[in-house]
Amino acid sequence: MKTHLLLSLILLISLFSNSISAFPSQFFPNITHDHSHFPNFTSNPAWEYFKNFTGCHIGDQRDGLAKLKQYFYNFGYFPDSPSNFTDDFDDSFESALKTYQQNFNLNPTGVLDESTLEQIQRPRCGVADIINGSSTMNSGKSSNSHSSNLHTVAHFSFFPGRPRWTPSNRQLTYAFLPANQLTATVKSVFSRAFDRWSAVTPLTFKETDSFYGADITIGFFAGDHGDGEPFDGVLGTLAHAFSPPNGRFHLDGDENWVAEGDVSTSSLSSAVDLESVAVHEIGHLLGLGHSSVEESIMYPTISSRRKKVDLASDDIEGVQMLYGSNPNYNGSSTSPTSTTRSHQERDTSSNGVHRLITGWWGPTILTVLAALLLV
Ligand SMILES: [Zn+2]
Ligand SMILES: [Zn+2]
Repeated sequence: MKTHLLLSLILLISLFSNSISAFPSQFFPNITHDHSHFPNFTSNPAWEYFKNFTGCHIGDQRDGLAKLKQYFYNFGYFPDSPSNFTDDFDDSFESALKTYQQNFNLNPTGVLDESTLEQIQRPRCGVADIINGSSTMNSGKSSNSHSSNLHTVAHFSFFPGRPRWTPSNRQLTYAFLPANQLTATVKSVFSRAFDRWSAVTPLTFKETDSFYGADITIGFFAGDHGDGEPFDGVLGTLAHAFSPPNGRFHLDGDENWVAEGDVSTSSLSSAVDLESVAVHEIGHLLGLGHSSVEESIMYPTISSRRKKVDLASDDIEGVQMLYGSNPNYNGSSTSPTSTTRSHQERDTSSNGVHRLITGWWGPTILTVLAALLLV
């Protein structure tokens, strides 16, 4: 009897301690480690929904169009916030849509064609493409006299007023939100991402334990987290960061982040590569806005299961305009040499993976439908 009691007690304690230690790892399951448990989703529910708008044009009225207008508003495509959006495809929406199409190198038809809708449903950065009405990306560069030269003009952009870290502060510090309890593996992802930018600039980045004393603060948050830009669950908006010298870098804690391994072979269709997103957001922290160059790190969207971490010449040109070049930069390679580091530090918490399968997938799918289907 006593033995039974003792066993039950041990079981209870171990269950309890597992549930606590599993908390931080639920953000970073090593989902490429074991594919056997995951269902293989081949169709994208968000895409199924957006297909309903195919061919929609001025004069049309379609259920749910108001939500699409809200999406365009969130990313800066409407100059003013209307009191409420209607389901009417009106002049102002057509104009916003054409600007969007121009920014993403699509035919500026003003019609919700398939390629435009495909772009809209891609996961993306939460930072607006157009800030304070001063247009960035392609659309801000087409009104000048070089319109015939559009494709060669399109490149990097800055935040309005071109904020940057002051020349007296070239050694920047960064800190992680202590409550996230990130593993060494996850922290090393950010370290590699910072390395890519310091390789081409005179800037250096050093981790500090002092969260409130750091220049750059990094944290994972779910939903509304107090800065007026709530996250939206799986996919949709992945992360956002503020311009210098603010230094805040927020990531959506509900994403299925992949911190190591080959994200492209993940059987989880919503897997997002953490380093790719980190490299992009650090660009914002340094003062870069979005770019229309699809190969650039500062392009606003990234597909799930895609790794994109190398700075393009567009990114390098932009950041060097703000800070100058690293004296050791040879003009070609931006890849740090430590890309295999994380293999020694696998976070194979089966608890995190288990939760993802049993308790996470149901709500996850619902969240995708709710947040991404914009209903
Ligand atoms: Zn961005
Ligand atoms: Zn935020």
